[in-house]
Amino acid sequence: MPVAPVPRPGIMEISPYVGGRASAEGHSNTIKLSSNESALGPSPKAQAAYRELGPTLHRYPDGGASELRGALGALHGIEAERIVCGNGSDELLQLLARAYAGPGDEVIYTRHGFLVYPLATLSAGATPVVAPETDCTADVDAILAKVTERTRLVFLANPNNPTGTYIPKGALRRLWGGLPEHVVLVIDAAYAEYVSAADYDPGLDLAGRAPNVVMTRTFSKAYGLAALRLGWLYGPPAIVDVLHRIRGPFNANGAALAAALAALGDQDHIARTCRLNESCRDALAARLGALGLGVVPSVCNFLLVRFPADPGRDAAAADRFLTERGIVARRLEPYHLADCLRIGIGLEEETEAVGRALEQFMAAPADSGGER
Ligand SMILES: *Cc1c(COP(=O)(O)O)cnc(C)c1O
Repeated sequence: MPVAPVPRPGIMEISPYVGGRASAEGHSNTIKLSSNESALGPSPKAQAAYRELGPTLHRYPDGGASELRGALGALHGIEAERIVCGNGSDELLQLLARAYAGPGDEVIYTRHGFLVYPLATLSAGATPVVAPETDCTADVDAILAKVTERTRLVFLANPNNPTGTYIPKGALRRLWGGLPEHVVLVIDAAYAEYVSAADYDPGLDLAGRAPNVVMTRTFSKAYGLAALRLGWLYGPPAIVDVLHRIRGPFNANGAALAAALAALGDQDHIARTCRLNESCRDALAARLGALGLGVVPSVCNFLLVRFPADPGRDAAAADRFLTERGIVARRLEPYHLADCLRIGIGLEEETEAVGRALEQFMAAPADSGGER
């Protein structure tokens, strides 16, 4: 009998990540609101920098990403030497798990936390430990109650995807204060640019001072560069050193570095992106709330919307209804939120289309199933 190669324990428990659907069948101009992408897209300056790279694509990129790290350091008032760039922040999350957790170790994240955390944990061979949330929000005490001497990492998306909620600065500090020093606290601030709440802290200060805290960021969300894959991490020198040892030598590619540098220099574009998002998001939240739908308060560029339990009016029926109208939202079964949809915030006319469609959905007779 031939014996097939067997992967390490834990690998086959991983459900491969499935991204948001890109199109609705039969619709040429789909409104894609399934992947939390920027409504305005990338800055024209970033697009130009990307295009200009064509003739030099045979050159290896700067493996140290020094120019971009310098610009990030200047913009955020932090030390460039403590920044590591990655192929999306996903890669950095994976590297952290691989570097700090292995078989027998525990990694904590929250019930509706970002799906990459279980992926990264299991692929490192470590044991996932899930802390409950309160009102779709991370609960500091519940996380701390899960800490054991085997805990190596805590992943916290702040704000979180797909819930859109955050914990304020004081709670973040309390979480860190309650963790043993050997536990790495990973603050995933992928949506930080969008958050305008006065009590929000992306974690820059903690990651700058504490020996066991890192903050990850991305150019995929507000900066609108998801296709290029560029994330970065800021943290203590010892952790930064570890990541440099295990990352690929050219993990941040040349096109991503060039476009990100130009995007960083166009803060007006980011401000426009965030202003548009806030007005569309808040208007849509109010409109859907008025329909009786459960809208979780969001500081991000998407809304978590809870639908009624009756078959004709549930999340699956709503998803079909939207898809028939060319609108693609995200089903959330893998996040244990099967009664919800995550709906991205698009342009004004796209937001209007979502509001109108869900008004029709809620107004239609409930007993006609999903075929209306
Ligand atoms: C989108 C997202 C990321 C990662 O994005 P990259 O494209 O890999 O940089 C990380 N964390 C959360 C919570 C996200 O929603």
